[in-house]
Amino acid sequence: MPKFPPCSACGLPFSSQFIQLAGHVRHGAEIPTYLCPRCSHGTTATPDQSAPNRVTAAYRTRVYGDHEHAALLEDDRGQFAEPDVEQEALVRRRRVQDVVQALALVPRDRPHRIMHVGCREGRLLEQLSTQIAATTIGLEPWTPWCDEARRRGVHAEAVTAEDVAPFADPDERLDLIVEHHLLEHLDQPRAHLRRLHRLLADDGVLIIEVPNLLRAYGRLETRFLQEHHRQVFTSRSLATACMRAGFSPLHIDRGANLRIFCQKSHDPSERSQVFHGANADDVFQAVWSNEARLTVKQALAKTGATDAVLELVASTHARCRWAPGRADIALEAAVALERADRYGEAATWLRESLLDRHDGEVAAMLRRIEWIERSRRGPRRRRVVTLPLAPAGAPPRLPALAAMIN
Ligand SMILES: [Zn+2]
Repeated sequence: MPKFPPCSACGLPFSSQFIQLAGHVRHGAEIPTYLCPRCSHGTTATPDQSAPNRVTAAYRTRVYGDHEHAALLEDDRGQFAEPDVEQEALVRRRRVQDVVQALALVPRDRPHRIMHVGCREGRLLEQLSTQIAATTIGLEPWTPWCDEARRRGVHAEAVTAEDVAPFADPDERLDLIVEHHLLEHLDQPRAHLRRLHRLLADDGVLIIEVPNLLRAYGRLETRFLQEHHRQVFTSRSLATACMRAGFSPLHIDRGANLRIFCQKSHDPSERSQVFHGANADDVFQAVWSNEARLTVKQALAKTGATDAVLELVASTHARCRWAPGRADIALEAAVALERADRYGEAATWLRESLLDRHDGEVAAMLRRIEWIERSRRGPRRRRVVTLPLAPAGAPPRLPALAAMIN
């Protein structure tokens, strides 16, 4: 059994019960990710530091303030991602709403005290300053971003949360701590959360946002499981990590990103609890059925609905143990066949999809395709058509049916 650290979210020691989600090879080194059987959290191994030429090459364009704080500047092909301005504006607006909602839980007769950990260029705090009266501070250890935040008029410090000394006076503690897409980069997320716990007022609110493993987009190993994503969160594991650091989850939003709102827990037993949610085997099945769907989709897009690819689709579909994943694979086949005007086969795959997951849109698509298929065959041929999915053998007789109903 390989040597591997305990679960970063709940602390369960590594054992053969952990499920290997992936073992991707980067710069010649294998960097495995294991799912915890207790809280479904994914922990990615630390790259072998004794092989700097192989592994740290991946870090050369990234800036690490210290071992626990990373800022990603460009992707692995050396490309800077084009920002989608519309999407960015939506995200910013939603983050401002989050802050406003959280502050409503912390009534004060003085301006609120807010800290944005990993504030980058300070855009959130800049926007907040126009909407609410609050004392704000941004932490951004990468100095170019920190300087940009200051240029925008934000009070920013080029340090990490670990550098901030606990407040001597409890009244100085923070009413709200906000952190976006930072926790997944850390080696010790619970230690970091405990640090935030000490900085937060007793009735203060913590907002954390991280990527959601169960809403992974694109290829898992190239888009999601990367060595700078040390922590792979499900809603269950994020809530568990927060509880074990002394927080009590108030609300979790499970979109493409997970957003959790917490307050300090007043129940010591919460520190040893595991939050409810999907078990590790289901997470594994869900993630890998999405990978299988992507394989099928890419093959269908590349060569069209050839016999070879349809055979791949059928075998992948048969092997998939996750019903929603199977439904999606069947849909990919149906879409490709419909595109090739093969309506009869498309209808068969749509029926397969509906067996695994009821979906009104898919049912409507099936009705439309069946109608096209009927009109193509014309009234004369329609009389000899047999249903492709009719069960083998004679249908049960009426008394047998009556027995089944009763
Ligand atoms: Zn765990």
